[in-house]
Formats: sequence, C-alpha cells, structure tokens
Amino acid sequence: MDLGIRGKRALVTAASKGLGRGCAMALAEAGVDLVINARGGEALAAAAADLRAMGVQVTAVAGDITTEAGRAAVLAAAEGVDILVTNAGGPPPGLWSQWARADFQAAIEANMLTPIFLMQAVLPGMIGKGWGRVVNITSQSVKSPVPVLGLSNMARAGLTGFVGGTSRQVAPHGVTINNLLPGNHATDRATMLNSAEAAKRGVTAAQVAAEHAGTNPTRRAGTPAEFGAMCAFLCSTHAGFIVGQNILLDGGAGNATL
Ligand code: NAP
Repeated sequence: MDLGIRGKRALVTAASKGLGRGCAMALAEAGVDLVINARGGEALAAAAADLRAMGVQVTAVAGDITTEAGRAAVLAAAEGVDILVTNAGGPPPGLWSQWARADFQAAIEANMLTPIFLMQAVLPGMIGKGWGRVVNITSQSVKSPVPVLGLSNMARAGLTGFVGGTSRQVAPHGVTINNLLPGNHATDRATMLNSAEAAKRGVTAAQVAAEHAGTNPTRRAGTPAEFGAMCAFLCSTHAGFIVGQNILLDGGAGNATL
C-alpha cells in the first residue's frame, strides 16, 4: 500500500534502537525524511546510516529528549515537520512504597511532559499547514497496569488523558494524534526488565523471556518492525479518520473482549 507520505518530514525521538527505530525504519520505507534522536551518539549514527541507505534524508541529533536543552536542540533541527513520533526510555521497575518525589517527577517529566511539550512545539505548524500526524509511544500499562511499573502506569495515564482531549481540538485542522501501546516486544528495554525479574526470582533472563512469550496468545514477543508498520500507517494519508485512539499491540495478551 502506498502510504501517501513520500517527501514528508518526521521527527522520531528516542529512535536509535527498539520501537522508536522500528517507527523510523517504517517511515523511511514510506519515503519520509527524518530527524532522529537518542542520547548515545554511536547507536544513533548507526541508525542514521541504515535509514540513509533506504534513500531518505536523515538528521541525527544526540541529546536527552527529557531535558529542556535536549528538546530545544532536537526541535531546532525539526522545524516544520509534518509527523511527530514521541518516545523516550521507560521508568525503572520498583515498589510503590520505595519511590520518592524525585522518582515520580522524573517519570512525569520523561513520559508525560516531554511528549506534551513536543506536541505543543510542533502542533501550531501542522495546524497552519492543515495536515499533521502525531503518534505517541506509550504502553500496555495504560489499559492494564503492570504492578512493578507504577511510575509508568502513572505518567502514561496522564499523557493519555491529555491526548484524549487535545486530539479532538486539533482534528478540525487535519491533524491527528493517537497513542500506540506496546505489549511485550523484543527490545533492550524488555531484556532489562526480564533481567530485573530474573534476579528477583533466581532464574535466568532467557527463562523469563521464554515464559512471557509462552503465555502470549501468539507464543512470541512482538518485533520493532511490526510496531513500526502500525506507526507508519497511523502517519499515513489513509489514517485521517483515526483520532484520539489508544491502539494496543500486545499479541492479544490483554484478555478483554473490547
Ligand atoms: P529500548 O529498546 O531500550 O530503546 C530505547 C531507545 O530510546 C534507545 O534508542 C535509547 O537510546 C533512546 N532513549 C532512551 N532514553 C532517552 C532519552 N532520555 N532521550 C533520548 N533518547 C532516549 O526501548 P523500547 O523497548 O524500544 O521502548 C520504547 C518505549 O516503549 C519505552 O518508553 C518503553 O517503556 C515503552 N514500552 C516498551 C515495551 C517493550 O516490550 N519493549 C513495552 C511497553 C512499553 P539512548 O539510550 O542512547 O538514549
């Protein structure tokens, strides 16, 4: 399917690895020029090289997207983008009683305020052009809380509420905002969480990964490429009537009829 977005420009944050990289790759395949970001320069440069090899223009900006300075540098390179995919690393696992104010604030800053500030920066330009697409990478924890990820459950719920209202305000201008909710995907983040669980239970991370895959209706983890394909579709010209939705990509792990 031609996604109809060849020649458009996208900003994808936290995109050197995992799900962000999957989204950038799928957008590149659709002919979209990219601004990508991550903190580590080496993996970012490697991702940029892979994307350029697909025939699109790529600007890579290294920096922490959860900081004011990081966002300013990225946004300076991304002026006038047609598409925004927000992403950042997820909060650490832990126990509700152990977190202090600084932990809550860091999670809110990274996984709620950062995507909100990025949207505030690019939405006026999209509204001015009468076309735009925003996809926020959030988490299955929005629909079904993951007990050890209380910080993620909290911050992403706040972002989801903001998007629910704001998406209806910008829709009249041809701009859509939707959230993609990953379940278990095979990325570095999943490996880190599996290792934390393995250490607590005295098993190996590979065993934990196999258990998670084995209890999923698909009997496997999702891939960044599958995730990216859905992201690119939401950014396409065909997705203009999809507004304010929270789309769960979890292989059916959330056992619910609706
Ligand atoms: P990942 O494989 O660990 O990749 C994270 C990417 O984000 C890397 O490119 C990383 O590069 C970059 N990054 C992290 N923090 C950043 C920051 N502060 N500023 C700029 N770039 C940053 O993670 P993932 O699995 O793709 O997860 C992406 C998001 O989806 C996370 O918020 C995660 O919590 C959420 N999620 C993932 C899953 C899953 O199963 N994978 C499930 C539910 C939710 P640098 O480290 O070099 O900055």
